[in-house]
Amino acid sequence: MMKLNVEPILIAGPCAAENREQVLMTADALSQQLKANGISLTYFRTGVWKWRSTPNTFCGAGEPALEWLKEVKQKYGFDVCVEVASPEQVDLCEKAGITALWIGSRTAVNPYQVQEIAEACKNRPLTVMVKNPLVPDLKLWIGDIERFMKADVEQVWAIHRGVADRAESVYRNAPCWEMPIDLRVRYPELPILCDPSHIAGDTRYIAQIAQLAIDFGCSGLMLESHCNPAEALSDAKQQLKPDELVALIKSLVFKSELSSPIEDDLRKQRNLIENIDVQMANLLAKRMQVVDEIANIKKQNNLPIVQPKQWNKVEGIYRNAALQDSDYEEFLTKYLELLHNASINRQK
Ligand code: PEP
Ligand code: MN
Repeated sequence: MMKLNVEPILIAGPCAAENREQVLMTADALSQQLKANGISLTYFRTGVWKWRSTPNTFCGAGEPALEWLKEVKQKYGFDVCVEVASPEQVDLCEKAGITALWIGSRTAVNPYQVQEIAEACKNRPLTVMVKNPLVPDLKLWIGDIERFMKADVEQVWAIHRGVADRAESVYRNAPCWEMPIDLRVRYPELPILCDPSHIAGDTRYIAQIAQLAIDFGCSGLMLESHCNPAEALSDAKQQLKPDELVALIKSLVFKSELSSPIEDDLRKQRNLIENIDVQMANLLAKRMQVVDEIANIKKQNNLPIVQPKQWNKVEGIYRNAALQDSDYEEFLTKYLELLHNASINRQK
């Protein structure tokens, strides 16, 4: 990890507080790992109330979890931050001595609810972090942030967590990088963090998203970490073990006076390409799996493997989106030939 002029903000902890043991075990492992590597944690995060998209999943431990978080603070000295979705939850956090709160992406879509929470936070010495709404609406995100600024909350930060998108992707949420970039143009002094865990949805993609966020100038990261991710009651696939989290942080390159603008620029572009390559590689593998399914259907029904009409349709999809460039034209022709042959060979 390259040294920065200003320490990046680091927030880490489990998606949800499931029980006392899991919360304390995660805090203990994080504390040991971070200390051993000289990394400081700005906040230990966790969800206490977890009303997620469906009511049939784990809904959080609720109020008793606030007691476990008091213990985290006492034992490990971590300041704690929690998601709030109502004025009552703001009050409960205040009573538990929690002074950092965040607004979740599902709450952030509703200005009525955000306004009520902002009023409950009025003039309080709080840090409120506002996640972007699930929908790609920068105005709505800015509106949420401004509600807390107007309420004179001591510190207001933003968290970029990607948006729900139906496009085929290996990520759980589309990063939509233009949103945090535009937000920074509007509010250059506002700290903008990135939450790569919820963008990625899978630990395999977190590092590259985190690096890209740093290259785009974000002020820090919020990452999910669990002492035993395989057994996590929510977001199991995207939670890093504490040692994995520290390894990831150490692998990141932070901008500093040591790196030149050219190096920074090059790294940003390479990272963009890597992000695209990871998605293309995974989509290609996914495509082959679908080819296998098609092969099965054809075999069971004695249908021919090669279906020219269908292939013309596929070719059309690529040609319609093609760049107008003769070199690219040649590449695309070869690529389509390879793709078709690979698909036929696999079906055979
Ligand atoms: C979370 O951070 O645990 C969470 C629920 O995030 P989001 O609101 O971004 O989905
Ligand atoms: Mn989560």
